[in-house]
Amino acid sequence: MKAHHGMYIGGEWRPAAGADTIEVVNPVDEQVIGRVPAGTAADVGHAVRAARAALPGWAATPPTERAAKLAALRDVLVARKDEIAETVTAELGSPLPFSQAVHAGVPILVAGSYAELAATYAFEEKVGNSTVYHEPVGVVGAITPWNYPLHQIVAKVAPALAAGCTVVLKPAEDTPLTAQLFAEAVAEAGLPAGVFNLVTGLGPVAGQALAEHPDVDLVSFTGSTAVGRRIGATAGAAVKRVALELGGKSANVILPSADLAKAVNVGVANVMSNSGQTCSAWTRMLVHTSQYEEAVGLAAAAAAKYGDRIGPVVSAKQRSRVRSYIEKGIAEGARLVVGGLESPREQGYFVSPTVFADVTPDMTIAQEEIFGPVLSIIRYEEEAVRIANGTVYGLAGAVWAAEEAEAVAFARRLDTGQVDINGGRFNPLAPFGGYKQSGVGRELGSHGLTEYLQTKSLQF
Ligand code: NAD
Repeated sequence: MKAHHGMYIGGEWRPAAGADTIEVVNPVDEQVIGRVPAGTAADVGHAVRAARAALPGWAATPPTERAAKLAALRDVLVARKDEIAETVTAELGSPLPFSQAVHAGVPILVAGSYAELAATYAFEEKVGNSTVYHEPVGVVGAITPWNYPLHQIVAKVAPALAAGCTVVLKPAEDTPLTAQLFAEAVAEAGLPAGVFNLVTGLGPVAGQALAEHPDVDLVSFTGSTAVGRRIGATAGAAVKRVALELGGKSANVILPSADLAKAVNVGVANVMSNSGQTCSAWTRMLVHTSQYEEAVGLAAAAAAKYGDRIGPVVSAKQRSRVRSYIEKGIAEGARLVVGGLESPREQGYFVSPTVFADVTPDMTIAQEEIFGPVLSIIRYEEEAVRIANGTVYGLAGAVWAAEEAEAVAFARRLDTGQVDINGGRFNPLAPFGGYKQSGVGRELGSHGLTEYLQTKSLQF
């Protein structure tokens, strides 16, 4: 797709307030594929004004009509799914089949789920002698990362619009073309002017201006814990609502009764998917000491098959960050069994699929989020729960056992927001979000919708 030179504000593409631009780079060949405007506080101000002006009309629109507009938006995403997949592949570098199935496919599911929820959700309920109304929170500032460029946008914008809120989006600087395509889709779907607005730009400039804007009622942020902490503090000082989807360091716990080969192979695929740039990825594999060497062998064989087929990471900056973690793993004494510092290609931001064995729970690579195709295999004897819970994060995880009941009993002891049992499938209606420092709030399904609602009770 061709980059727009303006911001999508108040239902039209308007010139940016300043002249600075951001280059968009294809991570496969390192070529510049487009330029988008680098928004400033002035652009954010225009966008928030447009969202505020559109709020009364959209909040008063009957939920069934909001649902119809969301269904129209879903239909545009379906009609343009090939273009979406190609755009994500161009700016994120993910292989096209993955972009088609996941980067284009999942947002269609999520937009569809909110079209349905908007039509069926009980926005009004009776509680004894009261009527409780679930009303929109107001103007939403949405700040998203690059790892699932469209999913992260739709997981915020669709529930916000379903709730009757209006939105200003500041997408990640690495993947703004997908965000522009989404703005085109919003226009094509016939959403009223100002209900959705887009400001591209740098995080510390446009993102910060949005998070600090006094006329934004709720900030919904997905990204790193470091930035999330700042945004949470800013929101706290202003006494405004905030939702934070932050980092993760999820454990894949393989209990001794599990089908080891299946658990290891699915676990490796989970970490390598999207080149390891998934906040919920199971980057710590916990294996009982009796099966440890067999699991390491299986994981090494599985990871070695990927080579450069997983695609590059998003940027040179991300590649050097991932490499520095690989260096740290080696320096701290972990055993490198496959992959390492050498890149599988000369050009592009590729990182070799990497597996470390003999990782101890306190090593840096077992504690910090790497956000690259790097798996750490940790040995346990009796203390699997303690190791699994032994990081500041608590976003996701997996448990494998012969009997579902054994896995469920273990999963209930994990301090984490989501657990897949024996390779359970993705559910777009299940709440997603973190325990501990992985965040505040939930996305997806009805729990994701309530983030954008506030209650008013009338007594009779
Ligand atoms: P990041 O925090 O640097 O950036 C995320 C977004 O915040 C971007 O749009 C960026 O421009 C913006 N931003 C940066 N500084 C800002 C500031 N001072 N004020 C306001 N906005 C600012 O994160 P990233 O490098 O883009 O993404 C990778 C991180 O995101 C990883 O740590 C990953 O775990 C996390 N993540 C979490 C989830 C989740 O759902 N929990 C999903 C995806 C990514």
